[in-house]
Amino acid sequence: MARILIVEDEKKIARFLELELKHEGYEVLTAFDGRSGLDTALNEDPDLLILDLMLPELSGIEVCRRLRHASDVPIIMLTAKDDVSDKVMGLDMGADDYVTKPFAIEELLARIRVALKKNRARDTASNWKEEQCLRAGCITVDTGSWQVHVRGEAVALTRKEFDTLRYLMEHKGKAVTRDQLMNEVWGYDYIGDSNIVDVYIRYLRHKIDDQYHIKTIHTIRSVGYLFDYEEDEE
Ligand code: CA
Repeated sequence: MARILIVEDEKKIARFLELELKHEGYEVLTAFDGRSGLDTALNEDPDLLILDLMLPELSGIEVCRRLRHASDVPIIMLTAKDDVSDKVMGLDMGADDYVTKPFAIEELLARIRVALKKNRARDTASNWKEEQCLRAGCITVDTGSWQVHVRGEAVALTRKEFDTLRYLMEHKGKAVTRDQLMNEVWGYDYIGDSNIVDVYIRYLRHKIDDQYHIKTIHTIRSVGYLFDYEEDEE
């Protein structure tokens, strides 16, 4: 059953939606401000978002904008009654649909069903069209099936590790800055700490370079990282 993330700071509404959606058989995640909503969306990979626009920390519009760098999860906005400009902006930022508050639950449920169905159709289509393999030496990254193989062996990577590796390989031979990786992999400027990039680079080096005695991720001092494939000399 589909997993739905509710991002809504009005706890009463969030709770009401949660109960209704669970009653319909959906799995439900909730977040009560924009920033944790964005984090949850990026890390938990839900099938659909119900996104209030007026949120603390990060507005719904901003969540939408940043999320679209990383994901094409369907987004249904909850908007105030007469806020036409918000609706337009939200749709421009990549939201799929909106429901005006106060809404009838049946209407929202119908829109959820439509959005999920559309997305399944889109997924199937894009699997055929956009599937591609990145190769370097003995490494293969299949962006269609999300699998990484080194010397024919499957390597288990988390979503963020996978995205980091994919981005580096797409820019093979070119230096990539930490900020670029933050933007591309996390979908926004992570406030405070771009050291998180270094942490993921360390994980990747451990899982790939160290395990298979190759050198792929090179540090470019005071810039960032560069992917290039070298066999380790014995
Ligand atoms: Ca609100």
